[in-house]
Amino acid sequence: MKNILITGGSRGIGAACVKEFSKNGFRVFLNYNNSEKSAKKLADETGAIPVKADISNSDEVKKMIDFIHGYGKISVLVNNAGIAEQKLFSDISENDWDRMFDINIKGMFLVTKAVLPDMIHEKSGKIINFSSIWGISGASCEVHYSASKAAVIGFTKALAKETGLSGINVNCIAPGVIDTEMNGHLDDETKTELCQETPLNRMGTPEEVAKLAYFLASPDSDFITGQIISPNGGFVI
Ligand code: NAP
Repeated sequence: MKNILITGGSRGIGAACVKEFSKNGFRVFLNYNNSEKSAKKLADETGAIPVKADISNSDEVKKMIDFIHGYGKISVLVNNAGIAEQKLFSDISENDWDRMFDINIKGMFLVTKAVLPDMIHEKSGKIINFSSIWGISGASCEVHYSASKAAVIGFTKALAKETGLSGINVNCIAPGVIDTEMNGHLDDETKTELCQETPLNRMGTPEEVAKLAYFLASPDSDFITGQIISPNGGFVI
């Protein structure tokens, strides 16, 4: 049975990935940080194994990977965990900036660094990183979020080049507006406007994104690496 680690698997897109991979025969390690209750409920429902770690903390990441290694090597890594925040650029503090980058990109670095030796040893592996349309096109009042998600794109392309000869595929999903708690703060009017700006005239679902992650982890995508794939309903073309 292949082991997969999904960071931020307790809610939203990560939780949909936990369900998709669990029902398709993977041993899923469901990482969470704050949402213990929903992580454990989802673990009970799917048979996934919950593992708590703040991905921006190197000691916690090391403990998480040591725990997973008790079950064997990791074949697939989904770097999904992330945070967003909307603020005028002039209101973004140094702490806001550091927190955004600590979780959205340093966390990805720490987890990937801990998992990669497994894949290099096996000469195979799939890494799927989560960016955003805002990492491609930039969002007003989200400069720190957009910059951190643009960094994910550079990270993906560079790592794909470096690890291709080791048989490792590294790709990036850059979703458009997906119906999760990350957008829960938006009022109905803003949600309607976002849908109207989307050619397919709706938000995406976490399940649709999880199916793309599953494809990128499957042998069907063996010739795809270093790509930024954006399920966004046509919002950014
Ligand atoms: P969400 O519903 O807010 O869930 C975020 C997940 O990340 C939670 O499971 C949370 O875990 C986890 N997380 C946050 N900080 C963490 C940390 N320090 N350590 C470990 N886990 C942490 O978000 P989502 O909408 O599913 O988004 C998932 C990914 O897609 C993110 O990278 C996001 O930027 C990206 N994305 C989302 C959208 C969208 O419209 N929803 C669009 C583009 C890109 P806990 O609750 O357990 O702390």
